[in-house]
Amino acid sequence: MKLFTVGPVEMFPETLEISGRQLPYFRTPEFSEIMLENERLLKESVGAPTEAKTVFLTASGTGAMEAAVINCFTEADKLLIINGGSFGQRFSDICRIHRIPYDEIKLPFGDTLTAKRMAEADGQGYSALLVNLHETSAGQLYDIAMLSEFCQRNHMYLIVDAISAYGADEIDFEKYNVDVLILSSQKALALSPGISMAVISARMYEERVLKTDSGSLYLDFKEHIANMTRGQTPFTPAVGILLELHHRLKQIQSQGILQMNKEMQSLAERFREQLQQKGFTIPAYPLSNALTPVLLKPHAREMYEALKEEYGLIVTPNGGSLADTVIRIGHLGNVKWQDYEELLAAMVQIRERL
Ligand SMILES: *Cc1c(COP(=O)(O)O)cnc(C)c1O
Repeated sequence: MKLFTVGPVEMFPETLEISGRQLPYFRTPEFSEIMLENERLLKESVGAPTEAKTVFLTASGTGAMEAAVINCFTEADKLLIINGGSFGQRFSDICRIHRIPYDEIKLPFGDTLTAKRMAEADGQGYSALLVNLHETSAGQLYDIAMLSEFCQRNHMYLIVDAISAYGADEIDFEKYNVDVLILSSQKALALSPGISMAVISARMYEERVLKTDSGSLYLDFKEHIANMTRGQTPFTPAVGILLELHHRLKQIQSQGILQMNKEMQSLAERFREQLQQKGFTIPAYPLSNALTPVLLKPHAREMYEALKEEYGLIVTPNGGSLADTVIRIGHLGNVKWQDYEELLAAMVQIRERL
């Protein structure tokens, strides 16, 4: 079985070895040391300055998305959300549930987010932009430089869910004036699911987090940040995943995150070239290096099923209205060009009889 999914993904042998070990007790100076190093390496990998704060939540990515919203904003704010698929929709759902006012820029499947589209939202008094840098449901990578510029000229905070972009696409916290960057363990980090992280700018921490009643015990950033000054979390974390993370961050540091981006890019580009040569169609909007969507209307579901049942190759199906239209093929984790050759051959064979 081989996973071409977006999380969990094919894990590396060293990670699997770590995940099989006895867990240590965590209220110790040794574990604190590891956590402080996790923070330092994570910030370094996203280009965040030392004064930025980091929280490690034992939650899936959605937990960190919700935590970011409730720790930074209130009913007195008005937020702008890019809703280009199910992850954009999730930010809207979070704001609706917590009664935080918001507007959406809705992108139907296939549309590209342009500067012109953003300019229509100029001067509307929004306090922040919430965006999933890579909208994983469609595979679209938004233009972070353009969005950052939009936030600067409108004096807005920038909240970036980079869960599926981290490791795959360029992220630079400081260069793009990001205020909260949201990450998670099960995508390009290729770890077990269960740890999500937020990197928070000093200005967001001082102007918002310290002054906002989050209304949550478990997800309160103030508590998490206070604990992290000594390398601890307020509650028992997923200790094992934090150890997996420590190993992986050291490995990413020695490889270089830009090199990691580049390798994923060349894998994705080579695969897309071959796909198109074989007559498959991919969307025209800008794509993340994390995955390749393939347009297979109306046979997407059958393609997914046949790859899984007959070849043991697991790609990522879509839900809802896109279920029959598109499959997504991940480039995250322990996957190699050889695996894509096998996948391509299987896709061609299956297509003949669809
Ligand atoms: C995977 C992902 C999440 C997190 O989803 P969970 O199932 O809660 O882990 C959030 N945002 C994006 C863009 C993602 O790709």
